[in-house]
Amino acid sequence: ENQKLKRLKSINAITLDGTPIDLFANIELPGDLEQVKEHGATGIGLFRSEFLFLNRDDLPDEDEQFEAYRAVATKMRGKPVTIRTFDLGGDKKLKHTTQTAANPALGLRAIRLSLSEPQMFHIQLRAILRASKYGQIKILIPMISNAAEVDQTLYLIEYAKHTLQKDQLDFDERIQVGGMIEIPAAALSVEVFLQKLDFLSIGTNDLIQYTLAVDRVDDAVAHLYDPFHPAVLWLVSRVIQISNRAKKPVSICGEMAGDIQFTRLLLGIGLQQFSMYPAQLLAVKNQILKSNLPDIIPLAHKIIRADNQEKIHNLLAKLNS
Ligand code: PEP
Ligand code: MG
Repeated sequence: ENQKLKRLKSINAITLDGTPIDLFANIELPGDLEQVKEHGATGIGLFRSEFLFLNRDDLPDEDEQFEAYRAVATKMRGKPVTIRTFDLGGDKKLKHTTQTAANPALGLRAIRLSLSEPQMFHIQLRAILRASKYGQIKILIPMISNAAEVDQTLYLIEYAKHTLQKDQLDFDERIQVGGMIEIPAAALSVEVFLQKLDFLSIGTNDLIQYTLAVDRVDDAVAHLYDPFHPAVLWLVSRVIQISNRAKKPVSICGEMAGDIQFTRLLLGIGLQQFSMYPAQLLAVKNQILKSNLPDIIPLAHKIIRADNQEKIHNLLAKLNS
């Protein structure tokens, strides 16, 4: 089976009816690129940049970050590299943090933390922009919940560009900026984000946590963490359909994208970009190559409209057979 999958490495991911699908990789550090090459990804859909900040006493300065981002951009040779600005706080804490929030997942994390630490954010934005000269880099904002956060971030990106111009440092002036849909409120008001951003990426790991009020790292409630919950599936499909209608690219970069139980369902509701751990890429590609959209779409929509888990599981078994 493994040998069979390996042969798919250099084949394009296209459904039986001829729809091309983008298969991107999630990475944590530049060293993960080895794996990406091995499994034939069409780009990096999620570079979790916060891993450059973890397990150390100091913060990476602009040059260190620039070198890491440039290394990834250069090695991907013009293929898209989506760098998520640091998603710190919550379950990914800095070593010497003084954070004592009672509910860290609901606290000062991700873009909220970035906007409250503008100097640290400015350094990262400069580093990403400088690296954008060496490949096709995109900026991805984690955990947006309202329009003001996006406006502030876009302003800070423009300001960082301005300081680089003053320093006579080059960057990609047309760099694309996207946002992560990980909070139910963002999924329910996705139209406003589509007006302001170039693309969206759905972080299903957090979207499930926040939709179901189930801590994603608490074993005591792990049995309630259910990606098949009708509310989760409905939110995911809403974001995909509205993005497609607005003709803005949308991807999923949570675990759901790399789980072959979901591949056909996601294709059927209109997803054309998947981002996952490199080791899952070929199994998902295999599933895509065997799928015919005209057959899948009606059943996928039935699943999204289903009101209980048993119906969903039965229809999904039919869809995947
Ligand atoms: C997600 O929440 O689905 C996601 C991709 O981000 P992370 O898992 O890093 O929070
Ligand atoms: Mg997340």
